[in-house]
This record gives sequence, structure tokens and C-alpha cells, in this order.
Amino acid sequence: MTKYDYDLFVIGAGSGGVRAARIAATYGAKVAVAEEYRVGGTCVIRGCVPKKLFVYASHFSDDFEDAAGFGWTVGETKFDWKTLVASKDKEIDRLNGIYIRNLEKAGVEIVECRATLKDAHTVHLVGQGRDVTAERILIAVGATPFLPGIPGIEHAITSNEAFHLEELPKRVVVVGGGYIAVEFAGIFNGLGVETMQLYRGPLFMRGFDDDLRDLLFEEMTKKGIGLRMNSDIVSIEKTGGELHLKLTGGDVIRTDCVMYATGRNPNTKGLGLEQVGVKLGPAGEVVVDEYSKSSVGNIYAVGDVTDRANLTPVAIREGHAFADTVYGGKDVKVDHSIIPTAIFSQPEMGTVGLTETQARAKFEEVDIYKTAFRALKNTLSGSHERTFMKLIVDAKSDKVLGVHVMGAASGELIQAIGIAVTLGATKAQFDATIAVHPTAAEELVTMKEKWQAPVIKAAD
Ligand code: NDP
Repeated sequence: MTKYDYDLFVIGAGSGGVRAARIAATYGAKVAVAEEYRVGGTCVIRGCVPKKLFVYASHFSDDFEDAAGFGWTVGETKFDWKTLVASKDKEIDRLNGIYIRNLEKAGVEIVECRATLKDAHTVHLVGQGRDVTAERILIAVGATPFLPGIPGIEHAITSNEAFHLEELPKRVVVVGGGYIAVEFAGIFNGLGVETMQLYRGPLFMRGFDDDLRDLLFEEMTKKGIGLRMNSDIVSIEKTGGELHLKLTGGDVIRTDCVMYATGRNPNTKGLGLEQVGVKLGPAGEVVVDEYSKSSVGNIYAVGDVTDRANLTPVAIREGHAFADTVYGGKDVKVDHSIIPTAIFSQPEMGTVGLTETQARAKFEEVDIYKTAFRALKNTLSGSHERTFMKLIVDAKSDKVLGVHVMGAASGELIQAIGIAVTLGATKAQFDATIAVHPTAAEELVTMKEKWQAPVIKAAD
């Protein structure tokens, strides 16, 4: 019999927290999870899932145009933002219900309020005015949008608000150069909003393969998105019905809405972690070891709050590994070295393994295979969007170190390619795989020529 109220108390019912709670309970632990907003967390409630639904919605404008080349006459089209938001909300409510039911089925108690730490074994339930105790505590509180403190920043929105805008703006400026910024620039543009994206550095998507970054820039520009690199906002002024964005350099952009996607901060403020001795990193992230254990022996953390790889499937894996190790008697660590990921920009991108720059820094000799082409569908649709595929290979061992793709269904493709790269497949094994014809993906197993010349530019 434990002397605590619970074996495990989880703070945060997002992807990582829910998985950990459910699996720990399945192993027989007495578990509670506290959530101050909605069960499901960022990914389900105001992240990946609603974002992907919006991406689908925004694709129809291109699809209607593409149809003409195949003989279709599409009549007058009209988009209704409120219908999209309502349909999305209905689906999110359904998923939220499933998450709640799955926790309940596993025997996990859900506590609907904010929770903070009083000491290493005591959790204060804010709003309920009571304390509970637990042998172990798991911090899975995620991250929250970061906004720079410039004058007028209160007029800006983040992705959180973008999911619930009363009206779709006529003009929008998206600030930032990461996943969220490129995805939302594509969404707004596809829905007919005059869209501009500002990035403070020379080229957005820093850290991704340079070819993908260059081509995405070209393709987004072709779709009519105004991309301004080396640009940042110094102040925002609300004048009448519009926003005036003053840029470094003095230019002023007039718009109806400005959305910041300038990164996310771990949600550790006010949780009481430092007071109980939990070591935090420079961004406020919980510092953990390979078993997700913090500097305090009975306190663990998983997901974005640890700022390792801030992706839902990684948080789920970390939560599951924690429960398996601590409650299932297994020794499970999460391998963060190879993480396939998709960026739902338009066009979509998928990436796994090393970029060319990373590979050249790490390996003596690297072979590059790459191709850019117009996908079969676009020969009739008239779209000039290009598809791109790139393999990065260690010349010595022939091992495929990285794969980077851009084009329709790249997210689906990179999931399967991720298996091959995780298993350490060689270029020869890629080549020995029979192609699936006619697909774009067959290029990945038919590229014979090592790359030497610059990649064909989209305008050619
Ligand atoms: P990212 O960390 O990916 O990008 C932040 C961007 O904001 C960078 O371009 C950065 O510039 C810029 N930036 C940071 N600070 C400032 C500032 N003060 N002024 C101007 N620009 C600034 O964050 P996101 O918000 O795009 O996404 C958050 C997380 O969510 C990501 O880590 C990602 O893992 C996850 N995510 C994953 C998705 C997916 O899997 N498809 C989709 C959406 C989110 P610089 O490059 O110069 O640092």
C-alpha cells in the first residue's frame, strides 16, 4: 500500500501526458491527470489536427483550378469560413471526447483544473483549493506561443487564435520562418487571403535541407504569397480598422491581421518546479535524462516541456517509454536520432535523417542524388508546381543518411521512407526495390546519377 493518494500524478493531458497516464494505469498504477484547458492538448485541440483540417480546406482552391485540365467545368465557388470553423470544432469535440473516454476506460482520474507543485510529492489543485500527494509526478504541460515584446504586440494573434477567428481577414501577415509560419501562410493563401510572410533571417526554415528551403521559397512565391526575408517588425499600430506594421528599415505594411509564429516556450512558469529543485534549462525547459527523469528523482517530464524534439509522436513515444520503464518493468529509452517529419506547407514537405550540410560536416564523402520534376498530374492540370526528391548517402558505407522530399503527399511518403532510413538501408537496397509506377515516389529508387550540377530552377 502506498502512503500517497496516487502512484502517478500527471500534469497536462496532451499527447505525452495522456499516453503516459493510460499506459501506467494499464500496468496497475493509480493515476490522475490534471488539465487546465481541454483534454487532448495542443496537437488535438489547437495544433496538428485542426491545422491539417485547415490545410485540406485551403487546397480546394488549387484543386478547382486543376480540374479544368481534366475536362471539368467547376461553377462559381464560394468559401465560408464560419462553416469550416464549426465543422472543425465538431471534429475536435469528438476527439476530445475519445481522449476523455480512453483515459476513463483505463481507470485514470481526470482533474479539470490547473495543478502546481508544492513539494516533490504534493500537487496543489488550483481552483479546487486542495492538495493531493503522489509517489511520482510527470510534467507534460507542453509549450505556449512566444511573442516578442514589441510595442503593439497585443494586436497580434498566434495560431491559438487563428483557429477561432470570427472572420477570415482580407489581408494577413504571418511572422516567423518555422513549421507553423509556413503552414499558416499556405492555409491563409489557399483560402483566398492576401498573404505575406516575414522572416528575420536570409531564408526561412532554418535547419532544414537547403534545397527544400530554396524550392519552398520559389513554390510559395509562385502561389502568390509575398515572402519577405530579412524583415522584422519593430512596432504594430492599430489605426482605424487596420494594422500598421513598422519594419526594421522603416517600411510600413498595412494589414488586417498579424499572426506570430515565432516559436514556443516550455510552459513551466508558475508551476513551482524550481522551488522543489527541478533543474530548468535556459528556455525554461525541464532538463531530463534519457529516461525522461528530472533532477528530482521522482519527477519526470515528457514532450515539448523538455524541448527535445517538439513533435507530437515524439511526446507520445516519450510518455509510453516512461510508463513502460517505470511501471512495466522494461528498460525503454527513446531514440531521438532519426525522426521523420512532415511540414504541411504548400507544397508539402517530408524529411528524415541528415540534411546535406549536416552530412557533409559529419562524413568524409557524401553522395547526393536529387531530382526536380513536374508530377504527372500537373501535365494536364497546368500547374507549374514542381516535385523534388533528394537522397543523401554516405559514400563509404552506401548508407542513406537523409531523405528530403517536396510535393503532393510528402508526409505520407516520408513515413514509409522513415522505416528504411531507421533500419539503415543502403542506396543499393533502395535501388534493388522495384519501383511503383507511375508515382512520383518511384524516383527514390531509380535515381542513378550522382548529383553534380545545380538543381533545375522552378522557372525553367
Ligand atoms: P519554430 O521554432 O519552428 O520557428 C520559430 C521561428 O520564429 C523561426 O523562424 C525563428 O527564427 C523565428 N523567431 C524566433 N524568435 C523571433 C523573434 N523574436 N522575432 C522574429 N522571429 C523570431 O517554431 P514554430 O512556432 O513554427 O513551431 C513550434 C514547434 O511546433 C516547432 O518546434 C515544431 O516542432 C512544432 N510544429 C510541428 C509541426 C509539424 O510537425 N508539421 C507543425 C507545427 C508545429 P530563426 O530561424 O531566426 O531562429
